[in-house]
Parts: sequence; structure tokens; C-alpha cells
Amino acid sequence: MKTLKDMNLRDKKVLMRVDFNVPVKNGEVSDDTRLSAHVPTINSILEQGPRSLILISHLGRPKGAPKPEFSLKVVLPHLKKLLGKEVHFFEDCAGPDTKTRLEKLPAGSISLLENLRFYSEEKNNDENFARKLASYGDVFIQDAFAVSHRAHASTAGIPKLLPSAAGVLIQKEVKYLSDLLKNPRKPFVAVLGGAKVSTKISVMKSLLSKVDYLLVGGAMSYTFLKARGENTGLSLVENDFLEKAKEIDEAAKEKLLLPTDHLISKSFEAPLESSVSEVIPEGFYGVDIGPQTIRKYEEVLKTAKTIFWNGPMGVFEVTEFSAGTRRIAEIIAETTKSGAVSVAGGGDSVSAIKKTGLASNFSHISTGGGASLEFVEGRLLPGIEALKQE
Ligand code: ADP
Ligand code: MG
Repeated sequence: MKTLKDMNLRDKKVLMRVDFNVPVKNGEVSDDTRLSAHVPTINSILEQGPRSLILISHLGRPKGAPKPEFSLKVVLPHLKKLLGKEVHFFEDCAGPDTKTRLEKLPAGSISLLENLRFYSEEKNNDENFARKLASYGDVFIQDAFAVSHRAHASTAGIPKLLPSAAGVLIQKEVKYLSDLLKNPRKPFVAVLGGAKVSTKISVMKSLLSKVDYLLVGGAMSYTFLKARGENTGLSLVENDFLEKAKEIDEAAKEKLLLPTDHLISKSFEAPLESSVSEVIPEGFYGVDIGPQTIRKYEEVLKTAKTIFWNGPMGVFEVTEFSAGTRRIAEIIAETTKSGAVSVAGGGDSVSAIKKTGLASNFSHISTGGGASLEFVEGRLLPGIEALKQE
């Protein structure tokens, strides 16, 4: 993969794909992680003295038409503050005069173009659209890891048309995630949780060939427990995946650990007759892993030199059901302090870790939910592959 170091950016027009797909509340950026994640790359580009820097991104799902609630203008004040510099905003990323107006800006200018997904051509990887965007720059820097698993105009199209390289963020993502697959220090322990087995089967299979232990929590554990013949009450079970779960469980042998006790409740929106139990009775949901399970998982995690975590251990959105997830975050943070490498990925997992305030204690928190999972599955990501060609 080509990186920033392979490029000479002096006096060049630099086109850069970022992921400014930030959460917006009441017309303001409510979490700036996705903005600050790109600052190292932006600064590194600016240090080289480019003619201009042109930032392109998407925001939300406007479905191929301009919609004011998905305007990237919302990030402008925050972005200017983070960079300590003026940023020019262009209300159309592919208008008839976008290119000429960009070229009229003074040397060293930074611009942000409006949402790429206001054009359906972005997601369709339309060649003419990619050509139009590529015409703004002399070189292309890809830094939007979170969309690199998609073959869109700004991920797969532009690199075919311009000399291209990975930014600092993508470099970091690829380094941590490929180390997990290629040379993890042993013992390697993975923790998988979250809502559904179906969305995590491929990642499980890929990890099982590499890890020493796979600790399972969250709703996906109930499909495995039911496949072993245990009662799961009202817990979220994917009946279509019982066979698959059984297969994986048998192949994994003693590598795969399932919860042996649970926090149960009659509702999963709030505690209702909730208690800790080794069995899940009729009429109850499993909503979190129990204390005995946490102790067992702690024992295993404490020995790890490499840890990968995806998926909350319970319905962490409800405070009373968040102890398992919080405790696993604490244990991983402590183990990292004693020298282990820890990597976490997944949209909900990352927000759960942030809630605990322990994010900075992890070695790496991936900015890509789907992209990080596909990477760990061992799949080739079109946006990354495009940077390897030439
Ligand atoms: P990620 O986005 O990190 O990949 P997922 O989307 O797979 O994670 O799963 C997150 C969701 O799983 C959360 O909304 C959480 O409430 C839910 N979840 C976890 N444990 C349970 C459970 N026991 N019952 C129902 N839902 C659960
Ligand atoms: Mg999710």
C-alpha cells in the first residue's frame, strides 16, 4: 500500500477522502471523533506545502439527492477550530463551476465539498463522477477507513485516475488489524458479543483459526446455548442459525467459551424482576453476562498478549444491564497497561467503550464498524486494494 511518505505533495492540489460522517444533534456535531481522527493526516499534508487541500466526504444516507439535514456544512465550525485554519465550503461537490472556483482560491487553501452522496453516482461508483472529482486534484489521499469496504466512486473510482496513497489513519487501522491476523503475540484472545450471530459468523470463523480463546457474550451467546440444548427463555435467538452455531461450537472445541450465568429480566428495556441466574427461565430475557462469567473471562483475558473485541456483552444502553460490558472494558484496559495489544471495533462496541471513558486505554479503537469486521474476516477491502495498484 502506498502511503503519504511515498508522495511529494509540494505545490500539488491534494484531493483527500475523509469520513466526516459525524453524529448530529440539534444541528451540531455531538461527537467529533470522526473529525479529529483525520487531523494527523491533514497536518501531515499541510506540512508539505501543497497548492491546495480539498476534502471530500459523505454524511448519513441522503439517498442520492441534496437534503439540507445531511449537509456537511454542519461540521465546518468544529473543523475550523480543530485545524485552527480557514476552511472554504462548496455547496455542490460536482457543480459546473466547482473546479474553476476551487482553482481561484489562494495558494495553501483548504476546502470542504458538500456531501458526495447528494449524487447517486457516488455509491454507484460512476466513472464520470469519479473523473469529475479526480479532476480537482493532482494526487489523491484516501483516509476514510470506515467506507473502505465499499466500492464507491470516492473509494474505488478515484484511485484509478490519480496517483493515490493512504493517509495516516488508514495506515494505523491497517497496521493494527493486519497484525491481528498475521502475527498476533500469543495468547490471542477475542471477545465477541452484540446482537446477532448471523452478522458475526464469518468473523468468528476467521478468528477461530487464529485465537487461543474466543469469549462469547451478548445476545449471540443464546443461539449457541440453545444449540447446546439449554433453555434461553425469551432471549434473542436466531433459530435459522442453530445448526451453524452447533458446527462452529464443535469445531472450536475448548477454545470457545460461553456465559455460564446471566443477568435476567422480564423486559430488556428496563429491569423487571431482574436477578442473576445460571439458567434462563421461561418469560425472561438474558440481558447481560453474570458475575461468574465475568470472573472466568477475566482469568482468560489477564493472560492475553493480544486482544480483539467486537460486540457488547449485554444490552449496555440500559444502565442496569451494562455492568458486563463495562467490566470487560476495564479488564482489557488493565491488561493493555500490563503490555497487551488491544484492538476494538464495531459501531456499538466503540460507543460502549467510550461510555466507560476507557477508550484511550486501548491500543487501537477502530473507526470502521463494518470495515474493521470485514478486514478481520480476511476479506479484501476495495478502498484499500485500490491503493495497492499501479
Ligand atoms: P457492533 O455494532 O459493535 O458490531 P452489534 O451491532 O452486533 O455490535 O450489537 C450491539 C447491540 O447488541 C446493542 O444494541 C445491544 O443492546 C445488543 N445486545 C447485546 N446483548 C444483548 C442481549 N443479551 N439481548 C439483546 N440485545 C443485546
Ligand atoms: Mg452495531
